[in-house]
Amino acid sequence: MVISMKINMNKFHLKWKIFAYLIGFCTLLLIILWLFQTVFLNSFYLSIKVNEVKSNADAIEKNIDHEDLSDLVEAVSENSDMVVEIMTLDAHDIYLSGQKKGALPYREKLDMIKKAQLDNGEHYEYTTLNAPLKPLNDNNFAGKVPPDYKQPSQSLMYVKIVESKTNGTVAVFINSVISPVNATITTLRYQLYVITAIMIILSVALAFIIAKRISKPIEEINKSAKVLAKGSYDTQFSGKGFLEICELSDTLNTAASELSKVEVLRRELMANISHDLRTPLSLIYSYAEMMHDFPSEITAEQTQTIMDETQRLSTLVNDVLDISKLEAGTQQLNITEYNLTQSIKATTERIAELIKKDGYKLSFTYDKDITVSADEVKITQVFYNLLLNAINYTGIDRTITVCQSIDGSKVRIAVTDSGEGIAKEDIPYIWDRYYKVDKRHKRAITGTGLGLSIVKKIIGLHGGEYGVESGMGNGSTFWFELMIN
Ligand code: ADP
Repeated sequence: MVISMKINMNKFHLKWKIFAYLIGFCTLLLIILWLFQTVFLNSFYLSIKVNEVKSNADAIEKNIDHEDLSDLVEAVSENSDMVVEIMTLDAHDIYLSGQKKGALPYREKLDMIKKAQLDNGEHYEYTTLNAPLKPLNDNNFAGKVPPDYKQPSQSLMYVKIVESKTNGTVAVFINSVISPVNATITTLRYQLYVITAIMIILSVALAFIIAKRISKPIEEINKSAKVLAKGSYDTQFSGKGFLEICELSDTLNTAASELSKVEVLRRELMANISHDLRTPLSLIYSYAEMMHDFPSEITAEQTQTIMDETQRLSTLVNDVLDISKLEAGTQQLNITEYNLTQSIKATTERIAELIKKDGYKLSFTYDKDITVSADEVKITQVFYNLLLNAINYTGIDRTITVCQSIDGSKVRIAVTDSGEGIAKEDIPYIWDRYYKVDKRHKRAITGTGLGLSIVKKIIGLHGGEYGVESGMGNGSTFWFELMIN
């Protein structure tokens, strides 16, 4: 109940969060629109006008001595609705465009020419041609009345001093009427009211649609995850709609299949370990019982069997302990610089001596002594595990060869046996915990299924590499590589 309430609240939350973001985004958009379309509209319009007037004046300046200048002036005047005058510096017209309305009085023209001369050769200013009438505050008109019934009409006056070959220095005068933007602003404002309303409605609708589309696949994945949590590892996650959701469901599918593998391995481990424990324990018990009942008939074989089985048990317990420590990350490497070749040689000789009586031939070949920086005890354990496997699985000729080779900056230790080899399809799994190719669990071949996963862990901790070359009937070569000092 509590969980479902929490989930519902979160769903609600997601919806409203998206809604809030969308509303925020729309508000920002609308504020920008309002600012640009109402507050800044006038200054935008004026700067556009100034640029237009300047570029017209530039065009006239470039063609001031052209024989068809009058055509250009007329075109400018008509197309841009401007009055163009070309005059001497004492304000006497040389040329006046067809559109004469709005021309300035003589004195003001003279004044502007002077200002332009002082001001880098050009000057512009705004003049109000019709003074606004007073607001209608005092009258008692009914209804909504405009603030004043006549808008002032503004004009942009621009003058540029230009050098002409025919007339000497002249002034190009351009007068452009500025239409009042108030009417436009009112229209835009009404449009903005409508746009605002539409955007709010759209963001609400969009927020709900998006939230639903996002939350639905998440809900489905959550439903499957609950089934998975109960232990159904064959649960399938099917995320649709968004790349992230698809990736999440892929990851969960992988996690589910990994969990199911772990579960299978766990069951196998329980079966293996209980089998491995039960057999030596019952052997030890029956031999001990025999020795207890017939103390006078104790033989060396009986005590040897007890010793062998105890050995087998302690190997198993040690392996399980090692792998659990390595996996928990509690084992730290004790890195020292040591002579790997001599260490491998000593282990090989010791083991060779031990197994000589059973007819095993174990040899070690190497070029020169190699020093490495590694944890000697752990690397010896790796080598020992590989060697033990080779002894267990080697063929009837009972030969095992150990070879040290150098490959650039790496040293490789390879253990080769002449056994049956490993099938290609089994090779990727032999490094997994508790994996045994032979599930029938022959007692002649001892093993906990942990040896190679210990190798994998330890070499991995050293940043080295490991591998196997093997094929059915061709024996196997297990190897590991470390960096040379
Ligand atoms: P185990 O203790 O069972 O040997 P390992 O992890 O050392 O466990 O090895 C895993 C499996 O890999 C073994 O059960 C065996 O099937 C296979 N294997 C390991 N070494 C060899 C080898 N030298 N020749 C053939 N098979 C091998």
